[in-house]
Amino acid sequence: MMDDERLVSVGYTEDDRSIETSLRPHTLREYVGQEDVKKSLSIYIQASLARHEPLDHILLYGPPGLGKTTLASIVAAEMGQNIRVTSGPAIEKPGDLAAMLSNLSEGDVLFIDEIHRLSRAVEEVLYPAMEDFAIDIMIGKGPTARSLRLPVPRFTLIGATTRFGMLSAPLRDRFGIIYRLELYTPEELSRIVTRSAGLLKVKQAEPDGMLEIARRSRGTPRIANRMLRRARDYADVCNNGILSAKMADEALVMNGVDSLGLDKTDRTMLATMMDKFGGGPVGLDTLAATTGEDAATIESVYEPYLMQLGFIMRTPRGRVCTQPAWAYMHREMPGSADDAGDGQQTRMEI
Ligand code: ADP
Repeated sequence: MMDDERLVSVGYTEDDRSIETSLRPHTLREYVGQEDVKKSLSIYIQASLARHEPLDHILLYGPPGLGKTTLASIVAAEMGQNIRVTSGPAIEKPGDLAAMLSNLSEGDVLFIDEIHRLSRAVEEVLYPAMEDFAIDIMIGKGPTARSLRLPVPRFTLIGATTRFGMLSAPLRDRFGIIYRLELYTPEELSRIVTRSAGLLKVKQAEPDGMLEIARRSRGTPRIANRMLRRARDYADVCNNGILSAKMADEALVMNGVDSLGLDKTDRTMLATMMDKFGGGPVGLDTLAATTGEDAATIESVYEPYLMQLGFIMRTPRGRVCTQPAWAYMHREMPGSADDAGDGQQTRMEI
């Protein structure tokens, strides 16, 4: 709940749902960044189009808001096929998935978001479907029960997950193609928001305004597009629609986003690690309990960006804040004075 209210939240907000569809790129050419993924995908797509065969099953993983759903619909479009969209928690019973699979048309793309949340019983239906394009139906009960194998149309499964480690090995092994999506660079995000600004009819989107938004959106297109909308409103009211770097900055500060794109929750997390645990190592569960955030959210949402900034490191004993994080939070790193002393001593000995 709380996460949804944050400007830098990577989850959907109600606002996003309607607008994201209109901002989604529809072709691989329009899809910014993830160059290695695009290059390899376009080869597989061309090859399977030439062979008139469905594409191999694809698993996409990485933090939320990086374009997994978008990429899945682009793959379907480039293959000239329809896409059916569902998610792990929405498929409650094995029968639900069996019905869905039987209703596919030949070549369809089935997109399952949050695929790590499928129950084991539902997963078992997926195995033969992925491998042999068949489902096994149990007929009867008790000793006379027998299983009947029914064919399903040949389809391509695209699974998406924010938590690769939570996927069972048998499911993971059935994907022929596995891609990890990376956080975007400010330059890439700037291209994304510039394109979105055109679609959102921003009156005057200045390049340095776009870059300011890009630099502060934690490597995530969903956040960049959301910040763009807030900044557009601000510029409309305060600057006659001219979205300059100054307008972007003011709009973001007003929404509690600092110069690096960190918000109150990030800063609370860093402050807690520093003030209560001397900067770590802190275990994930301890951090979750003391900050009131869910451990999975910390791991898949906050940490990737804080790690990209070089503010925290994962060690076998827990998370540790680095020197730049201490400096950014205007705190002195414990032991740093001693370390300097040690360093001097060593130098003197030499
Ligand atoms: P995920 O499924 O990984 O949570 P989405 O595919 O829903 O992320 O992407 C969120 C929004 O970000 C999309 O609506 C789209 O407008 C934008 N987006 C994501 N990736 C890209 C990209 N590579 N190029 C342009 N826009 C993107």
